[in-house]
Amino acid sequence: MERLEEYRRKRDFTRTREPAGGTDRNGTSELYVMHKHAASHDHFDLRLEQDGVLRSWALPKGPSLVPGEKRLAVEVEDHPLEYADFEGSIPEKAYGGGTVMLWDRGRWRLKGRSRKDRIDIELDGERLKGSWTLTRMSGKRQDKHGRNWLLIKRHDDKPRMEASLSVELDASVASGRSMSEIAEAHDETNSLNAVHLPDPALLTNARKAALSQVATPQLATLAREVPTQGEWLHEIKLDGYRLLAHIDKDGVRLTTRNGKDWTQRFPEIARALAALPITTARLDGEVVALGEDGISRFGQLQEAL
Ligand code: MN
Repeated sequence: MERLEEYRRKRDFTRTREPAGGTDRNGTSELYVMHKHAASHDHFDLRLEQDGVLRSWALPKGPSLVPGEKRLAVEVEDHPLEYADFEGSIPEKAYGGGTVMLWDRGRWRLKGRSRKDRIDIELDGERLKGSWTLTRMSGKRQDKHGRNWLLIKRHDDKPRMEASLSVELDASVASGRSMSEIAEAHDETNSLNAVHLPDPALLTNARKAALSQVATPQLATLAREVPTQGEWLHEIKLDGYRLLAHIDKDGVRLTTRNGKDWTQRFPEIARALAALPITTARLDGEVVALGEDGISRFGQLQEAL
C-alpha cells in the first residue's frame, strides 16, 4: 500500500512491535482512534480511517472538548489500520520511542462532503462524542508541507459527552492501564521481539534433532467442573479450523489436525508465515473468522472460504 510508504520507512519492524500493515479490512464503518503518546513531547494522536489507512494528526495539547475551542493538529504520516489496536511501548531509540495508550476509540463519520482543507466529523467514541472540524491553516501559520491544521470542537444539539471528561484522564480505554503501567509492561512485551528470541541451545535438556514430520496437536478435554487447584488459565474458545504450520527449507506447509494438506486453502496464511524471520518452526493455531463483535463463528469461516 503506497500510502504507508512513509510510515514504513520511518520504522524498523524488527525493533518495534508496531504493526507493519498490509491487512485489508472490509466493511464501510470508519475507525476512529485517539492515542495518548508519551514521546519526546507528550501529545495525542487523532486517527481517522480513510481509504484503507488511518489518516493521522498529532495534537500537542490534546483534543478540544469545549465548543469553539481550537487545538493545533499537525498531520503526520498515514498509519496502517491495525494501528487502531496498538497500545504499548516503542523502543526508546526507535522512531516515536515512548509509551502509547489507547485513550479513546470508536467510529467516525463525515458530515457533509470531504474537502481538501476542511473535514467536518462526528466522533462516536467511548469518550469523545459529537462534532468537530478539522481545518487546514493558511498563510504564515502554515508550514511548507501544509501539515498544520486546527481541530475545533463544534456545538452539538444534544451533547452526549461526559461533562467531567478531561484530557488529563490517565486510563486506557482498552486495558484501563495508566501510562506508567503501560510503560512498566515494556520489558515483558518487548521480549516477544524477533531480536530477543530465546536461543534454543540454552534450554535445559534440549537436544539437536531434525524437526519431526509428524505432529499431533494437543486437544482440549471436556470436563464438568472448572478446576480450582493448580495454575490454570482460561482462554476464549475459538470456533474455526485447527491448523498446523510446518516451516522449513522447503517452505511452508499447512495441515489439519488429521494431517491433510491445506496449504492451498489458506495461501494468505502460508505467505504471511513464509515472511517470518525464522528458518524452521512448527506452529499450532486456529483459523477463525471474527465478527464485528469479536466472536468467532464457524459458519462465517465456511462462507469466507
Ligand atoms: Mn505520536
